[in-house]
Amino acid sequence: MTKKIAIYPGSFDPITNGHIDLIKRASKLFDEVIIGITQNSKKSAFLSIDQRLDMASKTLSDISNIKVMSFNTLLVDFAKAQNAQVILRGLRAVSDFEYEFQLSGMNKHLNPTIETLFMTPAEQYANISSSLVREILSLGGDISHFVPKSVEALLKQQL
Ligand code: ADP
Repeated sequence: MTKKIAIYPGSFDPITNGHIDLIKRASKLFDEVIIGITQNSKKSAFLSIDQRLDMASKTLSDISNIKVMSFNTLLVDFAKAQNAQVILRGLRAVSDFEYEFQLSGMNKHLNPTIETLFMTPAEQYANISSSLVREILSLGGDISHFVPKSVEALLKQQL
């Protein structure tokens, strides 16, 4: 039987409790979930690729069917190379929809065999974004509710 593999792509700059909630849910639906960390050309990264890989790997080490990888190719090409059938994206609010809709349309055009699936996080994670976590951190605020302890410690070192 073909292994059901999903790619969950993003900047993960840093990985948050919202991402982790989604990953845990997805890990129950797929044989394997690959966290694909990319350098988003539109955003300048706060953390290096290696730091983001390290944070995600440490945080997710207790889930056996998760792989954390980085990539710098087209997402659909990365998905194909990993034999993934699905691209997974998170939807937090209506404001995410327009961009995500456009992205999934373009990816479908580039490779019609790969499906995009959307998942929503549990309600308490719906307002968390990596950019807000970075902003709160830079202003000395408490980020302990938004990221795991290990990520918080690494972020404080980074400052
Ligand atoms: P990108 O730079 O590609 O938007 P992010 O790392 O910000 O990458 O997010 C990766 C994916 O996770 C996106 O689909 C985003 O909508 C989703 N996401 C981000 N934060 C949350 C959250 N709190 N709950 C659920 N999904 C989220």
